[in-house]
Amino acid sequence: MVYLTGAGPGDIELLTVKALRVIREADVIIYDRLANPEILEEAKDGCEFIYVGKEDSHHTLPQEEINDTIYQASQTYETVVRLKGGDPFVFGRGGEEGIYLRERQVAFAFIPGITSAIAVPEYAGIPVTHRGVTVSFRVVTGHESSKKHSQIPWENYRTDDTIVFLMGLHRLETITRKLIEIGKPTDFPIAVISRGTRPDQQTVVGTLADIYDRAKDLPTPALIVVGEVVKLRDQLGWFER
Ligand code: SAH
Repeated sequence: MVYLTGAGPGDIELLTVKALRVIREADVIIYDRLANPEILEEAKDGCEFIYVGKEDSHHTLPQEEINDTIYQASQTYETVVRLKGGDPFVFGRGGEEGIYLRERQVAFAFIPGITSAIAVPEYAGIPVTHRGVTVSFRVVTGHESSKKHSQIPWENYRTDDTIVFLMGLHRLETITRKLIEIGKPTDFPIAVISRGTRPDQQTVVGTLADIYDRAKDLPTPALIVVGEVVKLRDQLGWFER
């Protein structure tokens, strides 16, 4: 049995009860860079660990090899946990891993995780929705497979939705420029949150015009939040206090 498991955004206590149960039962844990390694201390004696760390912009192991590593593990071990940062379906390629296993008749289950897209802004005191401010939010990738031809449909972002960009810090300058090009005011609120929910979390708040200079050197992982909700941090900020 393979459990495709979300590890949450970083704070080890943001792991689900179900994830913790399968981690304690696992014979092998195949884990990412984004999954907090402290979680592995919960594994039973003799559990094997396989690191298939992913970087933001380059993957240590190509996805095909990760799929095969999981498959091979399922042929050797009773209980396999594939541990991924946040939630497996939010830019986590959990779907691809599931399809690969189904094609090879391997039984699997998904265990949702708390996604960084919501939890990290929350730890910065930025609600992704707020009555009277915004009724919707979207989560998009800031990382594009082709630098030359943008796959991000920028025209769609002419909206009042809160926009959360994952994997976008290295594209921060482009992201802010594009948002200004489609008509957002240069003083529109934006925040970058680095290493969210971890003890060294850092949040930088700014405008589309100045955030790049202020936040470009923050350590990863980091995400970007764009929207009027960013201003609520003045009243709701808590974790860094
Ligand atoms: N499946 C994950 C997201 C994978 S994409 C989830 O649901 O959270 C990886 C991106 O997530 C990173 O580039 C970064 O933008 C974001 N991210 C993950 N953990 C983070 C954290 N603790 N703080 C800030 N951003 C984080």
